[in-house]
Amino acid sequence: MLSDLTEIEQEVNSFSVTNASELESFRIMFISRNGRITKLFDELKNISKEEKPAVGKKLNDIKKLAEGKYNSLKEKLADSSAVKETMDLTLPPAEFSVGREHLISQTLQQMVKIFREIGFKVTDGPELEEEFYNFDALNTPYYHPSRDMQDTYYIQNNVDKDKKYVLRTHTSPVQIRTMLNNKPPLRIISPGKVFRNETVTYKNYFMFHQLEGLYVDKNVSMRDLKGVLSYFFKKFYGENTKIRFIPSFFPFTEPSGQVDITCFICSGKGCKTCKETGWLEVGGCGMVDPNVFKAVDIDPEEFTGFAFGMGLERITMMKYGIKDIRILYQNDIRFLDQF
Ligand SMILES: [Zn+2]
Repeated sequence: MLSDLTEIEQEVNSFSVTNASELESFRIMFISRNGRITKLFDELKNISKEEKPAVGKKLNDIKKLAEGKYNSLKEKLADSSAVKETMDLTLPPAEFSVGREHLISQTLQQMVKIFREIGFKVTDGPELEEEFYNFDALNTPYYHPSRDMQDTYYIQNNVDKDKKYVLRTHTSPVQIRTMLNNKPPLRIISPGKVFRNETVTYKNYFMFHQLEGLYVDKNVSMRDLKGVLSYFFKKFYGENTKIRFIPSFFPFTEPSGQVDITCFICSGKGCKTCKETGWLEVGGCGMVDPNVFKAVDIDPEEFTGFAFGMGLERITMMKYGIKDIRILYQNDIRFLDQF
């Protein structure tokens, strides 16, 4: 038994650890309840009376040796890992970048806020739209030449043969859906994506955003239309902004107008951006055509209304002097970071 003890003593002395799990192996091997040293204490009862004192003493010494070694190794490990995990709590925190709203979304939020303040409610409609809502109900039957004004994406439909679908070419179908489901008075804006089969250039893109407005009530006139748009553009571009209407054509309004505002870069004096005219085109508008009212079962003798539409990309690009529409959708962080 004494030779066993000498062997264990040597093993304890030469045992070295570099991490916590090796230290734990040491503990289990020598000093745990089932460890080799503890087991030898159990065997003491089988030893003769004469030998017992010497063996007992030696065993106690080894137990103390192992426990001492365990404690000092544990301290040593704790010290070295403390060095590794040293941190300076006075250092400033690492910078992390926060995302932000896309430029078009920012413009959209600003526009919506202004219209909400004067009582317009935001409505929404599907981007995959029935041809009926996108064209027919807007006084644009299939034979109507004005359908060629918009290059349309027609969607193949093998499920429901009675309906034809398109990617909406404007947000105007939301007007139709709203008027079919609600009775006047109506005061809505509907912002959203629209799609046209255009060749992509610096000024055209196959997808862009429109904001559409509609106001239907008794005795709504052109004067109300001009008042609302004038209010909006003064809020959006500044108090000195003036607007003017130029005759135009849309199948769903009569009369129809193009909306111009005074150039906010030269204040109307004439510059490169406004091609020396002092005016910038910002959208279309008009009084709702009686045929559109008939299509949605509203009596055009009783109600009148106006509608207007604006392109968000155009308005945003003018505001920030952006020359190429494509840059808005290239996700270039160097560009987006500036706004
Ligand atoms: Zn100008």
